[in-house]
Amino acid sequence: MAGQPQDDCLFCKIVAGEVPATIVRETETTVAFQDINPQAPTHVLVIPRVHYPDAASLAAAAPEVAADVLREAGQVAAAHDTQSYRIVFNTGSGAGQTVFHAHAHVLAGRGLQWPPG
Ligand code: 5GP
Ligand code: ZN
Repeated sequence: MAGQPQDDCLFCKIVAGEVPATIVRETETTVAFQDINPQAPTHVLVIPRVHYPDAASLAAAAPEVAADVLREAGQVAAAHDTQSYRIVFNTGSGAGQTVFHAHAHVLAGRGLQWPPG
C-alpha cells in the first residue's frame, strides 16, 4: 500500500537499514545518501522515509514530506558549498526511473548542460 514499506523496494530497505548506503543527512521524514553510480562530483539521492512510487504521488498524498525532500535537497547542495545544482525527479521508465520509490537526485560540482538529455 502506498505510504507503507514495500518488501521489494530497494530504497525502503535503505530506510530500514537492511541495505547499506553512505548516508549524508537524515531527518524524521527523509534520508539522503550517495548515489552508487554518481553522474557528477556531487550526486546525492534524497528520499522520503515513506514509500510512494514517484514525486507527484508523494506530493499528492503527503505534501509536507515532499517539501521536506526539496528542503533537504537544498541543504545537501549548501553542504557542498554550491549555489548551482540540479534537482531531478525521473518519473517513469521512459524518463530513466529505475527505482520506484520517490527520490530527488541532487547533482552539482560540474557544469550542468541545459537542456538535459
Ligand atoms: P532513477 O534511475 O530511478 O532516477 O534513480 C535511481 C538511482 O539509484 C540511480 O542513480 C542509481 O545509480 C541509484 N542506485 C541504484 N541502486 C543503488 C544502491 O543500491 N545504492 C545506492 N546508493 N544507489 C543506488
Ligand atoms: Zn520504497
